[in-house]
Formats: sequence, structure tokens, C-alpha cells
Amino acid sequence: MMHTGEDIGPLSMDLAPRGTRRAGCACVQGTHGRRKRRLMSTRYTRGAAAAAALALLLAACGGDKGGNGGEKGDAKAANGPAVAGGDTSASGQARGGQTANAAGPGQDNGPRAKTGANELGRILVLEYHRIGPKEGEWYRSEAHFRQDLQSLYERGYRPVTMREVASGNINLPAGTSPVVFVFDDSSQGQFYYLPNGGIDPHTMVGMWSAFKQQHPEWSGGATWCVLPGAVHPSNFWGEAKSVPANRQEREATIKKKIDYLLQNGHEICNHTMWHAKLSQYEDGFVQDQIGSGQDSIMHYLPADYKITTFALPLGLWPKNRPLAWHGTYRNGKTYDYQVVLEVSGGPNVSPFDRAWDPHSVDRFIAAPGAIERQLAHWDQDPAERYVSDGDPNTVSYPAREASKLDRSRLGNRQAKEVADTPAAGHPAAGAAPAATPPSGH
Ligand SMILES: [Zn+2]
Repeated sequence: MMHTGEDIGPLSMDLAPRGTRRAGCACVQGTHGRRKRRLMSTRYTRGAAAAAALALLLAACGGDKGGNGGEKGDAKAANGPAVAGGDTSASGQARGGQTANAAGPGQDNGPRAKTGANELGRILVLEYHRIGPKEGEWYRSEAHFRQDLQSLYERGYRPVTMREVASGNINLPAGTSPVVFVFDDSSQGQFYYLPNGGIDPHTMVGMWSAFKQQHPEWSGGATWCVLPGAVHPSNFWGEAKSVPANRQEREATIKKKIDYLLQNGHEICNHTMWHAKLSQYEDGFVQDQIGSGQDSIMHYLPADYKITTFALPLGLWPKNRPLAWHGTYRNGKTYDYQVVLEVSGGPNVSPFDRAWDPHSVDRFIAAPGAIERQLAHWDQDPAERYVSDGDPNTVSYPAREASKLDRSRLGNRQAKEVADTPAAGHPAAGAAPAATPPSGH
């Protein structure tokens, strides 16, 4: 067994070149600062407080050694799809090079939703932390992570980045639904290169890559919220001092990881320098924690890359709330984020919904059983699920949803009313022929 669980590694600040060098673990101790959510059913809020209370004792301070002991170079996972292009455009329209060609809209013969289009439906923004055998709010087992990919795929979900959702550029085939995978805390079990140079097939990146090779329709990317200067192994996916390599080699590995993610259509997101509880600090410190985190991540990104997504550590808001998305630090440098991710809340509204608030995007924690329950719920009652119409130039929705539409979000797109989805539990007339029944996971 390669995942060793909870050991807490040494501090490593040496890869945080412009960061706050501050000893101590940014662990959570209790409450979280989410404000009361509007439009939220109790189904979605259940468990959120407990989840937040447990938070980063595990998620920021534990340890998952993603694994030196893995198999030797699974060639598929190791090489991954060699790709040109990437998600480096600030507009968010870029998809992973090869993947966009291999399975762009219209070329996806995979499973579909059983309902008609509803682009005012809700979107799952999934929140993952660590991979490990002892599953909990902040750990997902390897088996269940593979199952999540499979279950979502079989029901017609396809990955998109947070950036794509926020820009409204959800360019998916008709009858499929967007799902955003967000990986917080950049721990080693998420992404690790084996000594032979291959990606550890037991890491989340390794599993994702293998799944994509089997299912080319799984062509989009995920959103990776990085901590440059947290406690090992949550700094740049464990590329810490304890790794037996010199600084130059470690930085080269970090660069290799970032490059790989960009080339495969993924998004890089800031999660602060070392996961400070922003509710407990003064404005200057808050801005420095966010800004120095951004600087340290940008050290490895193309100069023209614009980080657009910020994930609040533990969902804790700064006292001065707007500092989560805009601030000034270190002699006038600034940060500006289009999206601020909450730590919980349930499926988020569509970016075309009047209730859309990019500075407070709800997430869905991949806690034990939670994704399974949500997918089963939408199998039975798909009315609130976002389903694409396959046309990036239109925003389609059934008449019953019309009052939700925010026309100011349409841009050049046309609004279009379409036939309603069927009643709960009834198969759709005229559903896409490739529909696959839920497999009962
Ligand atoms: Zn976190």
C-alpha cells in the first residue's frame, strides 16, 4: 500500500520564493465562515458545517504520500496524451489541444443525459482534497475516485474548468452536462512523478489520464487550487524539501507538472500561500497571503497566464470580504479574480441564472456517498440538472426556467426556449439515442 495516511511532513518554505515565511501549520480548528446561502435546499447544506469543522487538520496538514512505491511506469498514465495547446487563454475558451480535436462537440458518442437541454440548470463543482484509503470528508479512496469518473461519464457528464463555466463558454455536446472537478491543496497524492519519469498511476492525475485514454469524450480539464508554501506534502504536490533533490531539480519538477496540466486543458487556481484562515487576519496580511501565493504560482506559469479562480481556505472569508477577489500587496501589485470558490454548498447555479454570483460559487464536497446520492437524485429528478444544447451560440432552457434567465449574461448568445424535460422518473421522449441507463453505482 503506497498511501501512508496521516504523517505530517516538515515545513518547507523554500519553494515559496516570494512568500511569507512563517512557521506553523495552517490547520483549521473549528467554524467556518460561510454566509447563509440563498436558494439552497436543506439537502445541500446538510453536513456542510460538520465538514468545515473537520477541515484542514486533514486537508492542509495531514499527509498523503502519493507514492514512491507505485507500479513502474504505467505507460498510459505515464506518458499521458502528448498535447499541444492548453488552457492558457484568459477567455477560457481554450481546451486541451489533442483532446479538443479528438472529441470536440459533435464527435462525442458517449452516454447522454436522458432529458432535453436546460442551460439554466445547476452544475456540480466537485471538491476533492486527498487520495487515501481512509475515506472521509477530505479523503477520497482510489477506488471511489475511479468510480466517480465512471459514474459521471456514464450519466453524460463531461469535465469543464471553473474558468469555462464562469465565462459561460460551456462548449459541450448536446445532451451532456458540465461537471467541474476542483482539486484543493496540491497534495502529493494528486500528482506525482515516479523516479522513472512517469506519472504515478495511483495519483488523481494518473487516474484521470488513464480514464481519458479509455474515454476520449472525457476531453476537458479540471481546476487545481494550489498552495505553494504550505506544509509538505501540500505544497506544489509534495515537491518539498524532504524530497531528495536539490532546489533546482524540484523547481524543474514543479514546472513539469504545471506544464502538463496546462497542456491537457486544466486550469490553475490560487488557494493562498499556505492556507491561512483569512477571517483571522488584518487586511494587509490577507492581501499578502493571497498575492504572494499568486506570485509563487506565477513563477511556474506562462507570463500571460491570468489566474481567474481563487479558492477560499476552509471557506473562511476575510473580514473585508472583497479582498478575496481584489487586492493590492507588496508595493502596488494587485490581484483580481473572476471566481471565488466556497468550500461547500451543493450544486451551483448556472452562469446564466440571475442568482449566479461568481464571487461565491458553491462547491460539492466529495464526501463518502455524497456524489452517489446526488447523481441518484438527478437520475430520478433531472429537472434541475444543467444539460447542454450543443450550441455555444444559444442558451436553451425549458419555459418553466425562463424567469431565472439573466439576459445581461448572454453576451452574443441567443436565448432559446425548448421543450420541457419529462416529469420525474419518466424517460424522456426523444432522448439522445446513445443514452445509457444508470449503472447503479
Ligand atoms: Zn484547502
